[in-house]
Amino acid sequence: MRTSRIRVLPENLTNQIAAGEVVERPASVIKELLENALDAGARRIRVETELGGRRLMLVEDDGAGMPREDAEIAFERHATSKITSLDDLHNIGTLGFRGEALASIGSVAKVALLTKSVDEKSATRLTVEGGVRSEAKDGSRPHGTTVEVRDLFFNTPARRKFLRSPATENYHITSIVTHYALANHKVAFTLTNNGREVIRASTAADLRERAFQIFGPDVVESLLPVSGGRELVAEVTGFVSAPRERRSSRDGQYFFVNGRYVKDRIISNGLSEGYRSVLPQGVYPVALLFIDVPKEEVDVNVHPAKTEVRFRRALAVREAVADAVNASLRQAGIGVGRTGTPNADPVGDRGVSGTEQLSRAASADTSGADARRKDAPVLAQQEFDLHEQPTENSAESLREAGAAPPASESPGFGEVSARAVEPDQEAPADANRIPATEEALRSAPPPFDSALSIARSIEIGEIDKTKIRPVGQLHDSFIIAVDEHGLLLIDQHVAHERILFEIFRQRERDSRRESQNLLIPETIDLSPAQAVAFDEISGDLEKAGFEVSRLSGGTIAVKSIPADLPAEVVPNLVKDLLETFDSENRGRAGAAMRDDIAASMACRAAVKINTRLTPEKMSWMTEKLLETTSPTTCPHGRPVVLRLSMRDIERKFHRT
Ligand code: ADP
Ligand code: MG
Repeated sequence: MRTSRIRVLPENLTNQIAAGEVVERPASVIKELLENALDAGARRIRVETELGGRRLMLVEDDGAGMPREDAEIAFERHATSKITSLDDLHNIGTLGFRGEALASIGSVAKVALLTKSVDEKSATRLTVEGGVRSEAKDGSRPHGTTVEVRDLFFNTPARRKFLRSPATENYHITSIVTHYALANHKVAFTLTNNGREVIRASTAADLRERAFQIFGPDVVESLLPVSGGRELVAEVTGFVSAPRERRSSRDGQYFFVNGRYVKDRIISNGLSEGYRSVLPQGVYPVALLFIDVPKEEVDVNVHPAKTEVRFRRALAVREAVADAVNASLRQAGIGVGRTGTPNADPVGDRGVSGTEQLSRAASADTSGADARRKDAPVLAQQEFDLHEQPTENSAESLREAGAAPPASESPGFGEVSARAVEPDQEAPADANRIPATEEALRSAPPPFDSALSIARSIEIGEIDKTKIRPVGQLHDSFIIAVDEHGLLLIDQHVAHERILFEIFRQRERDSRRESQNLLIPETIDLSPAQAVAFDEISGDLEKAGFEVSRLSGGTIAVKSIPADLPAEVVPNLVKDLLETFDSENRGRAGAAMRDDIAASMACRAAVKINTRLTPEKMSWMTEKLLETTSPTTCPHGRPVVLRLSMRDIERKFHRT
């Protein structure tokens, strides 16, 4: 065997290796260039991209610029003006400090730099292509810096292959610029993609004004100021949304630690905790949170991309965030004790589901929680389910796998019960529940275990449709039906969802546009990233029966919607579609995207659990359900029908 010799890698190769971490995708280049511009004290930053950043990314600032000497070494590895000693590393006040970004970018792209420092007469122009730098030349421009990056990954074809579609990359770029624009309201930002202006934000007086520039009036109206935290641990400021502004992903959450944009579980967990029992599972608030911690309390040097941080006292930070958020909600009259039950309207007026309505009714008509439980055990059970908090991980991973229920759906009763009776589940029914309180658990009516533990989930094909007869409804959530083999329980929401999915999909396949005009067009303000996504899916939306036009800026007007879709679900539905645009399965063209649209519409339009159905509607639903053809297209793969067989019933009654 040949022994390999150890050698020191040539610098350009080490830069390319570093680029693997620093330059994950075009948006990471934009991020690094923005950070440099901000570190240089820019008041005005212009970003321009073409082809999702693949062809061109340009960032121009009016900051301090670089003297020629600096410009000549800026692209060398570990060249930085921001730290000089180890002490500095523990006390970082700039966004950059590693001195790797320009070197990494220059090693995998064709870069042109034009910069002029405030105290030099002429500007410096130079290029770096694949790590090779040209001689510096004189140029001219006012003070500031322009970095132009062309042909990203031109010399690393393997990485070039990993670039996603221009639309997806644009979405990420837009999102990054949005983040930095929010974090620096005094700085003016513009972003154009392929010549189209996506963000234009002039200098703003405060964060609220900046949020208005970026998100439009609707979102801003629902923002509640946050101002709290704990001394010496973390100061927490910013905004969170009132519960009526609900998202099905965390895309509307922006976190900044000492002005640096971060992705952080500690903060997002703190946020969720602050909203505990205000929002149901799978629904996320919008949040702009600025966490300011003493510099020595946080390590920003965790990852080359610098989007992760490590807090010395993570738990305390999490608590500080939760407290501040909670206080803000309480102040707005949406108060919820972090350990108690809601004491005011926990949900806004949009997309209120049956469970929530009931829960609200329960809160309204009795004075205390105890009385409520005693007098109305059924309501108590539902409320308790509403407040069930799944572990975040499970909810997220399910959603990523496309299996979790979408946002509009209230959690709890239907789902928990269905899960609790899964045939091969050993654990008792309550094992899946994280009860709000022990007491609530004790006072809840007994689950239907004894009967349901022998129920089996069955396929629709196993049912003879000439024999089935609906006889009633269980808890306003499940249709009870009988046939010659026994008893059937049908989850009304899932069943309806499946029926509608087929209707919507079929219509679209037949190019049958069945639309209803809205009396008043529904206008929706989109964030810049959503607007980018909208351009991508507007054709598919049209095929599905929507008529939407783009108004000025980020506003769209929905003029007509597919028949069978309730008008009030439209704003959240459209936002859902746009926000999940980037998740692995989306951002794809054609039939798959149209399936996604149909699935979201079906879910939004389907009757919720805790909704009373007329006998006619039950018959219609059962009949139509049995006509659905493709069980595998059921959007979320949950059981629809449970069977309790005659044999099992008789056995339980000791009749056999
Ligand atoms: P870092 O930001 O970690 O110091 P970079 O590779 O991003 O490393 O940049 C290297 C150096 O180049 C910076 O420290 C700074 O001195 C200089 N520089 C980069 N971009 C700019 C800019 N837009 N304006 C002024 N100086 C810049
Ligand atoms: Mg930098």
